[in-house]
Amino acid sequence: MTGGLRHDWSRAEILALFDLPFPELLHRAASVHRQHFDPAEVQVSTLLSVKTGGCPEDCAYCPQAQRYQTGVDATKLMSTDAVVEKAKQAKAAGASRFCMGAAWRSPADRDIPKVAAMIREVKALGLETCATLGMLSDTQAKSLREAGLDYYNHNLDTAPEFYGEIIHTREYQDRLDTLSHVRDAGMKTCCGGIVGMGETRSQRAGLLQALANLPAHPDSVPINRLVKVEGTPLAGSDEIDPFEFVRMIAVARLLMPRSMVRLSAGRESMSDELQALCFAAGANSIFYGEKLLTTGNPDTERDMALFARLGLRPMQVVEAPNTVHADIVDAAPAASMGCGTGCGCAA
Ligand code: SF4
Repeated sequence: MTGGLRHDWSRAEILALFDLPFPELLHRAASVHRQHFDPAEVQVSTLLSVKTGGCPEDCAYCPQAQRYQTGVDATKLMSTDAVVEKAKQAKAAGASRFCMGAAWRSPADRDIPKVAAMIREVKALGLETCATLGMLSDTQAKSLREAGLDYYNHNLDTAPEFYGEIIHTREYQDRLDTLSHVRDAGMKTCCGGIVGMGETRSQRAGLLQALANLPAHPDSVPINRLVKVEGTPLAGSDEIDPFEFVRMIAVARLLMPRSMVRLSAGRESMSDELQALCFAAGANSIFYGEKLLTTGNPDTERDMALFARLGLRPMQVVEAPNTVHADIVDAAPAASMGCGTGCGCAA
């Protein structure tokens, strides 16, 4: 059964989907996509890095980890005024949601009031709010919710059994705990991972299994393709087969039929044809415009030209109670949250 919401997927079931003939897998994913979404609409998301670099964590893919020599200069937390100015620009450009990312292991309690002020002021502009700040305690999650935070991004990154190859400074369970705090505080979750880090197909299936078997499917599921940044331990990783990436998208769609499946980091290096295949396989969200944290993102012009060639249009998202994801109304680019590089915090 692939059209309903399940939370009990076995690894064998998921691998059986990966193993389907490519056209059959795309057909099934596209069919499920149509049951829940207009396949001609793609959510468009933007992200502002409010505090870049200098992170104490050791995520092997991340240019913001201070221990790697990647040329990323650490910045301080932006002022609320500067963030609000960016949010106004995003709104003027058609955004309905605004995501703020900070490269922290977790926010210090003294930072919460500063971030809460940003959230309140961005919210007062009439925008939905999203943040990605690293691990959150239950009290921090509640404080952010009280300030008006709608969404929180925190990724699982990869399968539980491969996680120790990539990150040593926090546990998988820490990530699950933060997601639990976010859900308990009443916020929506954005949670996905990264492929192309040297993992096996079974481990890619394991990531999707972990995501789909969460108590609630993430509202957004960013699937990042590793951006190999010089200076990080994964700089020399082998490229993932593009068809395998499309399979990942298709299986994510089948397992989490009502979630936004988002093409995130790594899209810049994808051909138009590969992106088109991803949309056909059920991807219905992209990052757009602003730099995706410290990695690039395709020009908005290229995106809009591709949308025109494919007959796609940006969707606008509005809050609606009792829905797994926000309802969709017509037209206008909707900026949204999201994680960019696939980090559990600021990406
Ligand atoms: S992915 Fe996030 S937590 Fe990991 S090093 Fe980068 S900024 Fe820090």
